[in-house]
Amino acid sequence: MNYPSLILKSGRDRSVLNRHPWVFSGAVKTHPKAGPGKIVAVRTNNDVLLGYGFYNPNSRIICRLVEFATKEREFKQEYWTEKIRWAWKLRRRFLPPETNCYRLLHGEGDFLPGVIADVYDDVVVLQVLVKGGELILDDLLAGLHEIGFEKIYLKNKDAAERFEGVELENGWLRGEGETSRRVIENGIRFNVDFGRGQKTGFFLDQRENRRLLSQVSKDARVLNAFSYTGGFTLYAFAGGAASVDSVDVSSGVVRGAEQNVRLNFPDVEHNAITADCFEFLRAEDGLYDIVLLDPPAFARTPKAVQRAARGYKDINMHGIRRLRPGGLLFTFSCSGVVDRDLFRKIVFSAAADAGRDVRILHQLSQPFDHPVNIYHPEGEYLKGLVLIVGA
Ligand code: SAH
Repeated sequence: MNYPSLILKSGRDRSVLNRHPWVFSGAVKTHPKAGPGKIVAVRTNNDVLLGYGFYNPNSRIICRLVEFATKEREFKQEYWTEKIRWAWKLRRRFLPPETNCYRLLHGEGDFLPGVIADVYDDVVVLQVLVKGGELILDDLLAGLHEIGFEKIYLKNKDAAERFEGVELENGWLRGEGETSRRVIENGIRFNVDFGRGQKTGFFLDQRENRRLLSQVSKDARVLNAFSYTGGFTLYAFAGGAASVDSVDVSSGVVRGAEQNVRLNFPDVEHNAITADCFEFLRAEDGLYDIVLLDPPAFARTPKAVQRAARGYKDINMHGIRRLRPGGLLFTFSCSGVVDRDLFRKIVFSAAADAGRDVRILHQLSQPFDHPVNIYHPEGEYLKGLVLIVGA
């Protein structure tokens, strides 16, 4: 089959030659005759084939490559099923025991740009964030069926942007029934409400970092700021924490955190607090042994970075201030546009303002089921530091 060609300007093919999967509009010499979401062949100015990708003239990223190839290819259902099979094998190989929730497809990290699939027990919650993904939806469903999933729920609302013109509505694509599941992660039970929850319902990307927390929580008084439904809270209790304050601005998720705590630990000292963390961190002055800061992405575009930096600095300064000497700060940023170096600089200046001794113990990232394509560093969005705070 012949796919329409997108020709790159001469000198603008370097990043695709380096297997970076994005083509920006400024690099295009000749546009393909193709509608949004269609697969096109990407070629150099000298007509050398470099690969194939989802075209979308309405997007800042005009083409997202799905395959780097020097020979002509066809993209039928089996092609997509094979990608899904590979992703599934990888998860089965590395998934920790007593865990039935994980990310099965992580966009560019699984060579499927704009497609996210999170598994909660028997359900796949799918996010299709690019037009190309919408056009191959039936193939994706067939691939998921092939590896054994019969219940598939689409959850695009709340997903960052609809800039690509994806027109899918939330709801069951296959199967039906309740839109929540009781899952297990590292032996800890959680209710995940994927129908009403944020994103696909749960923040699977913090699984390993939560486990690290549980290893150092014995007898600790813990503050979990931006707690959502209590991911870190439950791991702190699993590690023997004396008490945890879970703080989130949304009263619904704070209730969810309390329910999750009781599901696992009926008798522990848990305080579920509905509050703005900026105010909570500033106003209160009790001291903790461990403070966790896992806010939502403060910046989504390069333009928003400066403002976001002020927000990160503010919560980190107050987080450090609220620790007793010898206390630990677990601090995260999931803004893709704030890179690791910048995040560390922000935390550095927060520490300096707090006027305390601060040492870095761990530098954290995202787990194996959120793989980072080495040619696409933008895919490494989660950054974390574990700090020990002295006098
Ligand atoms: N750590 C969590 C995920 C946190 S997601 C986990 O492991 O599951 C970020 C959370 O921050 C969301 O629940 C959101 O409701 C909350 N949030 C956003 N802005 C906030 C604010 N200003 N104060 C308190 N919580 C906020």
